[in-house]
Amino acid sequence: MRHFLAVDDTGEHKGIVTQTDIVINQGIEYYLSLREVKSVLNRRYPIIPGTASLDEAVKNMRASRFDAVITLYPEGDYGILTERDVVRLICGGKPLANVGELASRPLVCVPGDASLYHARKLFMEKHIRHLGVTGSDGQLLGLVTFAELLASIEHDYVQQLRETLKEREHSLAISQQHQRLATKVFESTFEGIMVTNAENVIESVNPAFTQITGFKAHEVIGKTPAILSSGKHDAIFYRKMHEELAANGLWQGEVWNRRRNGELYPEWLTINTVRNDGGNVVNYVAVFSDITKRKAAEEQMLFLAHHDGLTSLPNRGLFVERLRHAIAHAHRNREKVAVMFLDLDKFKQINDTLGHHVGDQLLQVVAQRLTTCVREDDTVARLGGDEFTVILESLANTGDVPHVAQKIIDSLSRPMLLDGHEITVTVSVGISLYPADSEQSDDLIKYADTAMYLAKKVGRNNFQFFIASMKEQEPPRRDADA
Ligand code: GH3
Ligand code: MG
Repeated sequence: MRHFLAVDDTGEHKGIVTQTDIVINQGIEYYLSLREVKSVLNRRYPIIPGTASLDEAVKNMRASRFDAVITLYPEGDYGILTERDVVRLICGGKPLANVGELASRPLVCVPGDASLYHARKLFMEKHIRHLGVTGSDGQLLGLVTFAELLASIEHDYVQQLRETLKEREHSLAISQQHQRLATKVFESTFEGIMVTNAENVIESVNPAFTQITGFKAHEVIGKTPAILSSGKHDAIFYRKMHEELAANGLWQGEVWNRRRNGELYPEWLTINTVRNDGGNVVNYVAVFSDITKRKAAEEQMLFLAHHDGLTSLPNRGLFVERLRHAIAHAHRNREKVAVMFLDLDKFKQINDTLGHHVGDQLLQVVAQRLTTCVREDDTVARLGGDEFTVILESLANTGDVPHVAQKIIDSLSRPMLLDGHEITVTVSVGISLYPADSEQSDDLIKYADTAMYLAKKVGRNNFQFFIASMKEQEPPRRDADA
C-alpha cells in the first residue's frame, strides 16, 4: 500500500498521506545521508530488447512483479518503461510502437557510492521514481526506486522513533516521580503552605497550614487570605506587598495573622509568583512558619541584653540610656532630674556568713523594695554587685528628693526573712542633680557615686547630696565584680 486515508477522531476524512509525503516531509535527510545507494540496490529488474512489443513489456512486469522494465539498445545504452508510462500510452490513444521507441532514453543513473540523499534529490528534481545504479566503471549494477528509498531507512527511522518514545516515557516517569515528591513535601512539611489563583482565591492548603492556623482546608478553599487577617497591618502594607510581588515575583517578611480561635501570631512568610509559559500569573504560593516561639526568644534575649539577670532590673546600659532620655526630656520641659547612687552597707558579711545564695535573695528583695519607693516612670537599675541607681524624673523642684532618699533608706532597713534568717541591711546613698550639678549624664553618675562615698565615710546608712567642693575628689575604684 502506498496511500493512507487520514481521519480525525470523529472519523471525518482529512486527506491522504503517501510514501512521497514521508520521504519528502518527515525530516529523514539525516538517515538518507548516512547510507549509500548501493545498499538498497535491486538487481532483479527485468531487461528486454528494444524490439519487444508493449504487450510483452507489460507481461514481463507482471511476471517479475516489478513496476518497470529496462530496455537495452543496440548502442549499449539503456532506457526505461514504467507502469505509469504504460497507462499514459494506453490512455493517449496513439499507435503503440515497440518498447525501444516508447521507453524513456537514456535511463537516469546514479553512482552506487552516492548517498541516498543524493538519490532523493534526483528523484525530486527529475520527477522520476526509478534510477539506474552504476558501478565504478559505469556499468549498470541495478535499479533503485523511490519506494525502496523509504523502505531502506524504515528500520533506522522506526528505531529512532522508538527511542524518542522511550525517552518520553522516561521523562514522564521522572515528572510523575517529581509530582509524588512535591506532594509528599506539601503534605509533610512543618511550614504552612497556601496556594491561591491569580485572583487571590485560595485553591489548596497543606496539613501544616491547618496545624498553624486552625482552619481546615474546606473552611478556606474558595475564600481569600483576608480570612487570616489580624488587622495589625494597614492597606499600605498589603499594597507594597503586591507591588513587590508584581515587580520581583517574590515577597518575604514578617506578618501578623489571626488563628481560627482569634489568637494573633507572627509568621515568617514567603510568597512566590507562579507564571505560565505565556508569562501570565497563574498562582501565588505562600509558605510560612509560626515564629511565635522564635519571637518570644528574641524578646527574651533583647530583655536580657538590657536587664540584670538576678533582679530583672535595667542594667547599666539601659540605665545610662534612660538617664540621657530623662535629661533631654527635662531640658525641653525645664524640669529637674535626680540621680541616686546606692551601695549596700557591709554586704560582704552577709555573703560570708549566710552564703552567696542568701546574698542573692537579699539583692532581689532590695530590688523589689526600691521599685515600690519610686513612681512608675522613675528608673531603678542594678549596676552590678550591691550597687543600684535610681533616676527620679520630671521633677518640678528637688525639694522632695531627700524624702524619697529617706524613704528608700527606711524601706531597705526593715528586716527581711531570708532562708529562715531575719536579716537587716542598710544602704548608703549619694545624690546628684540635673541641671544644678551637671547637664552631662556621665558627670551626674560620677558625682552621685562620689556623694555615696561620703555617705559611707560619715558612717553609712545615710544619704548625701553632691556638693561642688567634692569635684576634685574621684570616686574610689571598686573591684570589677562589685
Ligand atoms: P561597703 O559597706 O563598704 O559597701 O561594704 P560591702 O561589704 O558592701 O563591700 P562592697 O560594696 O565593696 O562589696 C559588695 C560585695 O557584693 C562584693 C561581692 O562579694 C558581693 N557581690 C557582688 N555581686 C554579687 C552577687 O551577684 N550576688 C551576691 N550574693 N553577692 C555579690
Ligand atoms: Mg557595699
